[in-house]
Amino acid sequence: MKKHNFSAGPSILPEVAYQNAAKAILDFNGTGLSILSISHRTKDFEDVLASAQSLMRELLNIPENYHIYFVGGGASTQFFQLPANFLGRKAGYVNTGVWTKKAIKEAKLYGEVEVVASSEDRNFCYIPKGFDIPQDLDYLYICTNNTIYGTEYKTDIDSPVPLIADMSSDILSRPVDVSKYAVIYGGAQKNLAPAGVSFVIIRDDMLSKVVRPLPTMVNVNTHVENNSMFNTPPVFPIFVMNETLKWIKSIGGVEAMYKRNVEKAQVLYDEIERNTLFRPTVDKADRSLMNICFVMAEGKEELAADFLKFATERGMVGIKGHRLVGGFRASCYNALPKESVEALVACMQEFEQLHK
Ligand SMILES: *Cc1c(COP(=O)(O)O)cnc(C)c1O
Repeated sequence: MKKHNFSAGPSILPEVAYQNAAKAILDFNGTGLSILSISHRTKDFEDVLASAQSLMRELLNIPENYHIYFVGGGASTQFFQLPANFLGRKAGYVNTGVWTKKAIKEAKLYGEVEVVASSEDRNFCYIPKGFDIPQDLDYLYICTNNTIYGTEYKTDIDSPVPLIADMSSDILSRPVDVSKYAVIYGGAQKNLAPAGVSFVIIRDDMLSKVVRPLPTMVNVNTHVENNSMFNTPPVFPIFVMNETLKWIKSIGGVEAMYKRNVEKAQVLYDEIERNTLFRPTVDKADRSLMNICFVMAEGKEELAADFLKFATERGMVGIKGHRLVGGFRASCYNALPKESVEALVACMQEFEQLHK
């Protein structure tokens, strides 16, 4: 049976990336060696790294005064690494759920944290708007797509202080005005690659703003100066990321990606609204294109386990919602084909018929 992979992460990647990764594991670039077993200092791998950087720069329109590096440790390492570098006195955080809470906890090890806005009052079902940003912050921190709650910023906010954004789960899914951010980072395993690599896009002026002496691996300058090669970078995840980036370019870049993502999300949100058995959990204006959350309609809660079984039997994978929200979450990352969304919608309609 065909599987429709709605997994929240690690998650679906383009078919061509799987194929080329499989080939490269057996014979990378005709070298007669596996990508898993070559030195990261070889010319062949240096070309992969350079390609991934330049494709990311091209696809996201990253201005020249930004550096891009790839590093291990996941997005969770950046939760402490960025404040270690940049939090001298006080930073502002917008609290939009689990991932910002975790980032806030780490930041507090280095200085004062002011939560400038939060959507915790309604279980993070919206993105706070119109909040004041104090001028005296070392930086403002946001998470642009909240993977667990299914909320997403729809505009790049203006900040009078350096803006740091966790874009783990919506990077390259929509156009972004990079020039509004001082740092954009994320784990690659949601939309770009298998687990094991994070990307960091950092504005040049930040490199001289490091506030304290740091271990070499923690200092952002290390990774910029050594072009992601201070230590052994995650060679295989970077290889797959490059394949994903090539695929995004081949189908028209981020604008085309965004258009596809809007179409997919529309189909599913429309069905969630229409279907009498389900309801959305997120305020309309803030609904994520990537992680689409829904629960059983009021009075139908007891059907949740049945629906999960019903959908699973029809090939849907990874649609159980996070325990903090309950219900269902269909992650519709870049590589998820529209047919998978249509299959889920058909499933919801069939289930509704059974329970008329
Ligand atoms: C998954 C996720 C993380 C955590 O990433 P790790 O690489 O597992 O540390 C952080 N932020 C967001 C928005 C995520 O979706």
